[in-house]
Amino acid sequence: MGAADAQTKRPLCFLLLGPPGAGKGTQSAIIARRTGVARISTGEMLRDAIARKTPLGEQAAPLMDNGNLVPDSLLVALIAERVTEADCTNGFLLDGFPRTVNQAESLDRLVADRGMELVVMNFDVPRAVLLRRLSGRRWCPNCQATYHVETSPSKKPGICDQCGSKLIQRPDDRENVVAKRLEAYEAQTVPVIQHYEKRGPVHRVDGYRDVDDVFAEVEQYLTGAMS
Ligand code: ADP
Ligand code: ADP
Ligand code: ZN
Repeated sequence: MGAADAQTKRPLCFLLLGPPGAGKGTQSAIIARRTGVARISTGEMLRDAIARKTPLGEQAAPLMDNGNLVPDSLLVALIAERVTEADCTNGFLLDGFPRTVNQAESLDRLVADRGMELVVMNFDVPRAVLLRRLSGRRWCPNCQATYHVETSPSKKPGICDQCGSKLIQRPDDRENVVAKRLEAYEAQTVPVIQHYEKRGPVHRVDGYRDVDDVFAEVEQYLTGAMS
């Protein structure tokens, strides 16, 4: 390998791991806005499929409404197709994927096939805080913007700043469903963190701080990974 090859930086695949309500969506949106990296949120893609009543949406809706994960085969196919789009050529950021070891293994193959390098962050937030974040989360069904009644309210209560639509609570943010989602997280997604810890560094981010303070740390870590 010549010197030029050695200096060629491989495209990066950023992973944001963490429980529901940890701030993955909030932070990934800021990262995408600030760096221009393609952001892939599987939760948003699934909610979009539900809104458009596609076959994927029809299959996913009852599972999501009950706090269950959507089958791996559907998610793996969704990601495999999404990353072939032009905006992903120089790297991408995943929010909400992988959520099972099986998904992680198929992502490992995809990343290897594309000659990419993984950069993994795990957001840590105490459970009591997650419950407050999820119960206060409000969501725009039109443009998927996310708010919080206390920590990041919309300018006009109940109305989306971006598009003027009425904000709602996501059906899966109801209290009984949240408990189920946290169980699914413990059983199926915590092993994903262990999967990555065996392979390389997983940067732990204390997510129980103001959005800007969390972002400052994320930015510092990403800048290091990108240089
Ligand atoms: P996730 O995508 O991990 O489920 P979100 O980014 O949607 O998490 O955040 C969950 C809720 O908590 C949202 O209502 C969001 O506005 C709010 N939130 C996100 N980050 C913070 C933070 N650092 N401090 C306080 N509230 C936050
Ligand atoms: P949160 O941000 O609160 O963690 P998401 O928007 O990421 O929630 O996901 C909402 C729901 O969409 C999940 O509870 C699950 O049903 C489904 N989902 C999203 N991503 C995946 C995935 N990678 N594998 C399986 N199901 C998923
Ligand atoms: Zn909106």
